[in-house]
Amino acid sequence: MSLKCLSENYGKLLNYIDGEYVEADYVGLLKSYDPGIGRVIAEVPVSSSRDVEVAVSSALEAFKKWAQIPIIERMRYLIRLRSLIEEKSEELALMIAQNVGKTIREGRGEVQRTIEAVDSALGLPHLFMSVRKLMNVAGGDPEIDMEMVREPLGVFAIISPFNFPVMIPMWFIPMAITLGNTVIVKPSELDPVPITYFMKLFKDAGYPNGVVNLVNGDASTSQHLIEHKDIVGVAFVGSSSVAEKIYSAASSRGKRVLCQAGAKNPVVLMPDATPDQSVENIVTGFFDMAGQRCLAPGLLITVGEAYDKFVEMIVNRVRRIKVGYQLLKDTDVGPLASQKGRHKVVGMIEKALEEGAETLIDGREYKIDEKYQSGFYLGPTILDNVSPDMEIAREEVFGPVMPIVRASSFEEALEIANSRMYGNTGTIYTSSGKYAREFARRMNAGNIAVNMAVAQPNQFFPFPGRKKSFYGVLHGQTDALDFFTDRKVIMQRWW
Ligand code: NAD
Repeated sequence: MSLKCLSENYGKLLNYIDGEYVEADYVGLLKSYDPGIGRVIAEVPVSSSRDVEVAVSSALEAFKKWAQIPIIERMRYLIRLRSLIEEKSEELALMIAQNVGKTIREGRGEVQRTIEAVDSALGLPHLFMSVRKLMNVAGGDPEIDMEMVREPLGVFAIISPFNFPVMIPMWFIPMAITLGNTVIVKPSELDPVPITYFMKLFKDAGYPNGVVNLVNGDASTSQHLIEHKDIVGVAFVGSSSVAEKIYSAASSRGKRVLCQAGAKNPVVLMPDATPDQSVENIVTGFFDMAGQRCLAPGLLITVGEAYDKFVEMIVNRVRRIKVGYQLLKDTDVGPLASQKGRHKVVGMIEKALEEGAETLIDGREYKIDEKYQSGFYLGPTILDNVSPDMEIAREEVFGPVMPIVRASSFEEALEIANSRMYGNTGTIYTSSGKYAREFARRMNAGNIAVNMAVAQPNQFFPFPGRKKSFYGVLHGQTDALDFFTDRKVIMQRWW
């Protein structure tokens, strides 16, 4: 199969199983859009339990041989994969932009992060050396030695969200397979075109058949994977409500499970923040990718005079954002990825207004170029007079909305920030080391940013999350060694 980059229609998507693109034995067909023009560009099969069965048995068969290959050799495939991604990076960036609605710049950013995920997995052979051996371990019995080794576990399912359709599966695939496991990816049904195309790169890198597989589908397809007896673990990234279901369904079946979930990331803006840089970072943090990032700020909390000092500057800067078709060079912010997502965001804005919030900028009135009227656009929205208990201040919006809550002191701001249900990130803008330190110490979130648009840990750090933002024990990225391997202790006596 060859998916041509920027096709007007990619047709009915295929699955990738046992090293081949194959037609799904689907139970339904969904539509995938170019959200900037509101046009269907692909049909997405809802793979059945039979498709899942074929994928799992292929992955299990492949695992038997793949796990026996030395890790150094498994790493060499990854080196080949890396250069293929670089070679195809522009095509990938364009496909991502077209299918998700992010701008070309944001599409390129995603490809760059994908390459970084491969880079960090290239260090695995070193980490894999964390083997421990104790000789002469039992007192009075000098012949006994004990050692701990790590082994891969089998077939993992990777269930991913729409907002980074290539990068997020690639947070896990390089780690899982280089450690000797095999995987089945179930991408989001909204925009699976780029990751379906991406499977070709595993083929071109020479990976043995069955090591990496992809089944397209929806919640029902995920469910078949989670329930399958030969799936040993599940790595999920998506909303908190789905994370809760997947965590309990997978763990009750004795599977390993890691669920990175939703967010409501508070930003505390202190009166002593550095004006120009802070305003720029706050605005790009909230509105890049139309706010559809789990690390995007979700609530601006101004402290004391910070409101009078900065809010007008923020409003003026936001008015300059150019919303438009994602594949045009001068676009700053593209459409939302789906009409359903847009309706949800508009509904949340309307509810906030009913609850007493006021618009400083109303994105519903943003005028989009005539040619793109059928796209899923929403302009940046700033909501004032928001109180911490309103839905818009508590729940994840996942859209271009900045709700502003006013606090009279740092302590009150911290209290508001910490009383959110989520714990992905917390951010402070200040020029005071004392407040920055205090915030970093007392903010209950997995990732803390000081004077930064987005608190994104790079691949060489774990990606933590707390409260409703994470379900499990081991986090993504550097915890992969523990998640994708099991430890075995071998005791030996030689007379
Ligand atoms: P989603 O939860 O709707 O879907 C994610 C995946 O789960 C999709 O593949 C979907 O088909 C599948 N799914 C949906 N319902 C299911 C069910 N009942 N059982 C099994 N599988 C099911 O999420 P989304 O809308 O695609 O993505 C946006 C969400 O992802 C946001 O909440 C965002 O914060 C979160 N996210 C989190 C991180 C993180 O690292 N914490 C990163 C990116 C996105």
